[in-house]
Amino acid sequence: MKKNMEKIVGWAKRKGFIYPGSDIYGGFGNSYTYGPYGVEMKNNLKTTWWKMFVNDRADMVGIDGGILLHPKTWKASGHVDTFNDPMVDCKKCQARHRADHLIEDALDIKSADGMSCEEISQKIKNNQIKCPKCGATELTEARQFNLMFETQMAKTGEDSTAYLRPETAQAIFLEFKNVIDTTRVKVPFGIGQIGKAFRNEITPGNFIFRVLEFEQMEIEYFVHESEWEEHFDKWVSAMYDWCECIGLDRQKIHELDVDGEALAHYSKKTIDFEYEFPFGIKELYGCAYRTNFDLNNHEKASGKKLTYRDPQTNEVYLPHVIEPTFGVDRSILAIICEAYDEEELDDGATRTVMHFNTRMAPVKVAVLPLMKKDGLPEKAKAIQQQCQCFGNTEYDEGGAIGKRYRRQDEIGTPVCITVDYDTLEDESVTVRDRDTMKQDRIKISDLVDYLATKYFKKNLNA
Ligand code: ATP
Repeated sequence: MKKNMEKIVGWAKRKGFIYPGSDIYGGFGNSYTYGPYGVEMKNNLKTTWWKMFVNDRADMVGIDGGILLHPKTWKASGHVDTFNDPMVDCKKCQARHRADHLIEDALDIKSADGMSCEEISQKIKNNQIKCPKCGATELTEARQFNLMFETQMAKTGEDSTAYLRPETAQAIFLEFKNVIDTTRVKVPFGIGQIGKAFRNEITPGNFIFRVLEFEQMEIEYFVHESEWEEHFDKWVSAMYDWCECIGLDRQKIHELDVDGEALAHYSKKTIDFEYEFPFGIKELYGCAYRTNFDLNNHEKASGKKLTYRDPQTNEVYLPHVIEPTFGVDRSILAIICEAYDEEELDDGATRTVMHFNTRMAPVKVAVLPLMKKDGLPEKAKAIQQQCQCFGNTEYDEGGAIGKRYRRQDEIGTPVCITVDYDTLEDESVTVRDRDTMKQDRIKISDLVDYLATKYFKKNLNA
């Protein structure tokens, strides 16, 4: 089935996953709110990530740094000077465009990332590239635009400018020394962090793919320079395991070896993980070899030693860094696009069903009493309580049972349990599978074991 973004965006709002932000004021520049099911899924994603990459590994610890860091951080990291994207304005309709993307789309080239403003301006002129909004060819020269959001601190001083972090990574570098001094980690080891990042994107869009405020899950993995390649390969492979764990089809993930000019200012090698979104094959995650660029620059700028002493060899050095980085919002978008399905049923009807895996599903089990009376609700609520060991559950007693199943299919609930009049006699319930729509009759006393084995044991962190 060809997936359609318009339908997916409509579904996300209608079903309480993702609403357009500040909607009652007419919306606010590509911002979004995760609704009740969206936030459950986001939490599932983040806890699964933390468990897989921090808790389950002996070589990883976590931190939670600030969104506001000392402004010198961003000078030393290179963001003040080089965290730019090229932009052009349309002189006619005043629309603003990301210049490299404009060229990529107009000339159908894979990446114009890293082209200089002069080259871009020349290409725009030579090819008479038009404003995608109004069709005019009167575009300004390309110029660099810094993506960091600035804010002013109340404190007085020569410079009160601070920045909202454009990546979570830098807090990890700032705390590197604290972590090695206060824990028992030894190189090679990593520090993970999950949190918000902000970028003043010139052309946000494609739903939650490119937004101004988003979340990242990042790892800075510290290694001896001589071992960077081996660790880089291991992390690329771990990232594939992650994609599988959240239910993405490996066939839809493509590696892009980012080369030359397109490499970020801090990187010597980067592999982008691209995913087949309905609007094209686009970056989902990245794995970058950052060398010792950041520790080195922070050491110089702060005047504080950030070296590591190997306890065995006594070698003192600045570790090099492998950085696997995962966008939370792009993960959610990929999971939704992957799971979205419209099935033709035997009776000619169409059912919308989300094939989320049990880890990501916002509701694990729904319990439905056939009728709102005769003790069925009480029985159903008791069963719901038992099922809470699997995570978030739902109780729904309103409307025809078929409609209630469809509602759960649409939010991707893997199993529905129906309590009917026979339940009161035989202490059994109907267990309905979302994907096959098959129903099994299971004794209440066996229910938790049955669900654990069939659905949740292998891949739920409950
Ligand atoms: P792009 O080329 O798409 O702008 P990037 O290469 O600048 O992305 P990174 O700096 O590598 O992105 O950021 C790490 C991850 O953070 C990305 O792989 C992506 O998942 C996520 N990300 C980056 N920018 C945004 C954004 N504006 N909105 C949502 N997620 C983002």
